[in-house]
Amino acid sequence: MLTKSHSDEIQSFLGDSSHVSGGFAERVAFPESAEEVADVLAQAVRDQIPVTVSGAGTGTVAGRVPFGGIVLATDKLNRISRIVHDDHGGGRAIAEAGVILADFQRAVESEGLLYPPDPTERSCFLGGTVATNASGARTFKYGPTRNYVERLKIALATGHVIDLRRGEITADTNNTIAIPLPSGHLIEARLPTYRMPQVRKHASGYYVAPGMDAIDLFIGSEGTLGVIVEIEVKLLPKPEGLLSGVVFFKSEAELLAFVREARERSLANRGISPTIREGSRDSTGKVEARALEYFDVESLNFLRQKYETVPLAAIGAIFFEQETTSSTEDSLMTEWLALLERNQAMVESSWFATNEADQAKLREFRHALPVLMNEWFAHHNQRKVSTDMAVPDEAFVGMLRFYQDSLRGGNLRYTIFGHIGDNHVHVNILPRNDEEAAKAWEIYRTFIRRAVDVGGTISAEHGIGKLKREYLLELYGEDHLREMAAMKRAFDPAGILGRGNMFSEDYL
Ligand SMILES: Cc1cc2nc3c(=O)[nH]c(=O)nc-3n(C[C@H](O)[C@H](O)[C@H](O)COP(=O)(O)OP(=O)(O)OC[C@H]3O[C@@H](n4cnc5c(N)ncnc54)[C@H](O)[C@@H]3O)c2cc1C
Repeated sequence: MLTKSHSDEIQSFLGDSSHVSGGFAERVAFPESAEEVADVLAQAVRDQIPVTVSGAGTGTVAGRVPFGGIVLATDKLNRISRIVHDDHGGGRAIAEAGVILADFQRAVESEGLLYPPDPTERSCFLGGTVATNASGARTFKYGPTRNYVERLKIALATGHVIDLRRGEITADTNNTIAIPLPSGHLIEARLPTYRMPQVRKHASGYYVAPGMDAIDLFIGSEGTLGVIVEIEVKLLPKPEGLLSGVVFFKSEAELLAFVREARERSLANRGISPTIREGSRDSTGKVEARALEYFDVESLNFLRQKYETVPLAAIGAIFFEQETTSSTEDSLMTEWLALLERNQAMVESSWFATNEADQAKLREFRHALPVLMNEWFAHHNQRKVSTDMAVPDEAFVGMLRFYQDSLRGGNLRYTIFGHIGDNHVHVNILPRNDEEAAKAWEIYRTFIRRAVDVGGTISAEHGIGKLKREYLLELYGEDHLREMAAMKRAFDPAGILGRGNMFSEDYL
């Protein structure tokens, strides 16, 4: 097995997209099979040294930044072994943890299939997306990574390799999950007793629910319970066509009214809205957005540096995507235009795309904002202060106002953008110096408190890692964090895996 220890060779494994500095490790191991992964773990247990699992390092919360011990890199576990079709137009795929998500999606799409999870940064590894339960713009329609994972091969710190298939092992009425090991022994893990926030996206702490499937414990476990080696996912039929748009608004009230209507109709047409009665379902255009993404006026100001055609009168914009077929494309365009006009969108100056080339341009516009902001941070030598909270439907408008009231009129530069369909917008504060950074973190804390108060989650997609532990403590409280640590010990008695992720090592 390849192992590297020279500082030049391992440097790139000591950090991630959080830009947290100070990571260090003795060496990086590159196992090529589940057995080799298990060997690395067994040796680490014998030597009593911590192991940090590394995907592609695109995580933003320092989950893969090691502080001592060894790094277990999944780069060489990079085979897609099967993509098969089922009888319903969808299919299944089996791939190893180190497959790059963009490569995986390309391979799946070339077979006429769709793997919905789509985090903005697609250079991440499939294993990393499972370990963080990643989501993206399409999550509004399709849900997060969790919804597609059918089987996981996992190497445990006990030295065992287990295969967990969805539906095979569930929690009993005492909230205990019992997983048989190949050795004939049983791991019995007692689930933490907290109730997860009732939001559409949630990536904060272990997933727990009555009668839950054992596989769901590992999805989103951020490298603390085991090393995900191989993944089997379900695939959907690739949609025939897509209608997308970046639509601008002159008034925030109208923009929010448009979002509310587009969201409610989309959910009703999928049959999951609690607020729309059966009889009032949209029977005409079947408006069903797969993405609803927001840009506030500050985001548009940023984007104008690169896109001069952003209308000057616009105070905000929505990026939407709707799947179509050749027979529905025209009627859906009509439906969306009617919806936009009813809510006073600036239809004439908005942008629409129905072919792949134009759609790529709109996606580029959406992705340009994080890139422009990263350039800004590099220039000012500061770290971004970025929120990742989601709140329940009824709390969203109040939360957005709270963000705006806290920041408008102050000296801090900021943008608010993101997954408005899921009540999950990212507030990015852009400090120019250390004094502004301190102020920004103070404001950030008030946002966390507010999100928790209204029943929201402190991280909807990026996870906790080492950076958001204190906020997880705020969400669940110390007793529940102790329950999480106790559960981790059932799978990792020596406490070597992902140390410092989710909760402090003091709990172990
Ligand atoms: C510009 C940008 C945009 C982003 N947009 C999104 C977005 O839209 N949605 C979203 O959800 N995220 C987003 N992210 C965050 C990031 O891309 C995701 O969290 C991604 O899933 C991380 O994958 P990775 O392979 O890079 O994992 P890493 O960063 O390497 O690791 C992340 C965590 O998972 C653990 N881990 C990795 N692989 C394994 C494994 N095989 N077994 C067990 N544990 C493992 C690590 O120990 C670590 O704790 C974005 C990041 C950037 C930089």
